[in-house]
Amino acid sequence: MNDSPLALLGGQPVITAPGPHFTWPVIAEADREAVAGQLEAGVSIPDRSGVVADLEDALASYLGVRHVVTTCTGTAALHSMYAAAGIGPGDEVIVPALTFHATATPLFHLGAHPVLADVDDRGQLDLDAAARRITARTKAVIAVHLWGLPEDMDTLVSFADEHGLLLLEDGSHAHGATFNGRRTGTFGTAAAFSLNGPKPLSAGEGGFVATDDSELYYRVLLHGQYNKRCRREIPAGHPLVRFAVTGMGLKLRIHPLAAALARAQLPRLDRYLTGRRSIAARMCAALDGVPGIRVPHVPVSTRPSWYALPLRYEPTELGGLTLERFLDAVHTEGATETDQPGSTCPLSDHPLFQAPGALLPGYADQPGPAVGDFPAAKYVHATTFKLPVWHREEDTRLADAYTTAIAKVASHAKDLL
Ligand SMILES: *Cc1c(COP(=O)(O)O)cnc(C)c1O
Repeated sequence: MNDSPLALLGGQPVITAPGPHFTWPVIAEADREAVAGQLEAGVSIPDRSGVVADLEDALASYLGVRHVVTTCTGTAALHSMYAAAGIGPGDEVIVPALTFHATATPLFHLGAHPVLADVDDRGQLDLDAAARRITARTKAVIAVHLWGLPEDMDTLVSFADEHGLLLLEDGSHAHGATFNGRRTGTFGTAAAFSLNGPKPLSAGEGGFVATDDSELYYRVLLHGQYNKRCRREIPAGHPLVRFAVTGMGLKLRIHPLAAALARAQLPRLDRYLTGRRSIAARMCAALDGVPGIRVPHVPVSTRPSWYALPLRYEPTELGGLTLERFLDAVHTEGATETDQPGSTCPLSDHPLFQAPGALLPGYADQPGPAVGDFPAAKYVHATTFKLPVWHREEDTRLADAYTTAIAKVASHAKDLL
């Protein structure tokens, strides 16, 4: 154990290398060439051709699904997926109370209602809580594989079947993660993914919908792709093809330069994830048993993508030291990229979910969540902090330094009280 005094109290910090300690995505020579080549090949693609078709084909084959449609963001992918799944005015969708807001917010733009259900003490959807929130208007439930740790999809698939609900997935943290050997994003009728900057697979900005359901696929096209794609990909004679020129009136296409970046990154994803799993396992082994710290339980059925490594903090084991003060000390040790999740939080904390008022006029008189709702989501959020998960062998020392910094602060917690 580290006997030097805490850096916060004048001792030597564990890490002196200046940040940033973690950057994502990795930009390789192949990415530069792909993006530069795309600049020459074309910067607007109105149909399913070129790099857009290449990326969609590669993603469909990676996941083993029939159809992939790329979009400008993950939020847009969720919007298109919900619209295509037929979620409309008055419909309810069960959403875990602890996620990034965009899992739920597109529903407001379809006249539908996100119905928040509490999570369990690990932060996964609590199916008893979810069952209690089902009404005659509930159409779907969405699984979010938070931090890249897959939900228990056996249980979720049975839950959706038992209640006659559509199962959808938000895979935005979980590209390439698996449950029982099968990739997340292939369990539901459809899945939406973000390809935003820090996500395991990145286009800088982008997203996609994956599905085996051809009817749903046509509607995804109509929702945000319009004209050429709809004319060419929806079969002649299909009742919806007459809407092809306008689609539903939105335009949510991916930028070709973004598509080129994600296409170039995809062949490296599995290698990155293998590296992440190895370093995450090493960090968990180093922190397992450190007072005040709980490492995530990783069921043998799962292979996470580790968008981040979520750790849980038990202040009672450290004399009641607050997480904020604990993290101040960890930061001063030089482990500056350790933080509490910011925007991934109990959705009921957001004003938009409490009293949207004039911002979402159709929702002005909705009763918002009550004080004391979603106690587990609040507890899990208040006791979670996260670390980056590196993938390169060269970064093992940095990962070790981060766990050393955390263990050092835990072992000196009494000095901070
Ligand atoms: C990032 C993210 C989104 C939204 O994706 P954008 O590409 O940022 O629009 C949705 N859900 C989850 C869980 C996310 O992490």
